[in-house]
Amino acid sequence: MIRAIEFPDLVEFRRRQLPGSFHIDITQGGPKGAVFRFFCPCGCDAQSRLPIGLLEKPETAPSWSWNGKLSEPTLDPSVHQLNCGWHGWLRDGYWESV
Ligand SMILES: [Zn+2]
Repeated sequence: MIRAIEFPDLVEFRRRQLPGSFHIDITQGGPKGAVFRFFCPCGCDAQSRLPIGLLEKPETAPSWSWNGKLSEPTLDPSVHQLNCGWHGWLRDGYWESV
């Protein structure tokens, strides 16, 4: 399992490129939505962005429900990174591959 570390600052997030780290932008995605950016937990350096919603999936598809926590985030459903094929879950602040 890989710890998912939050970076509040987008510039710092992009500079460090830590596998499994993430940045949540609540200024995008509408009133109950946000954008979740993360570096692939496998270490391939791929950066992705997912539309997320607070405790519910946004209308847009594909999208993910977020538990609202920055230190122990959970996303539902699982995440499939198409660049490298990594597939797994973000649960309670940890990435678990399946
Ligand atoms: Zn990867």
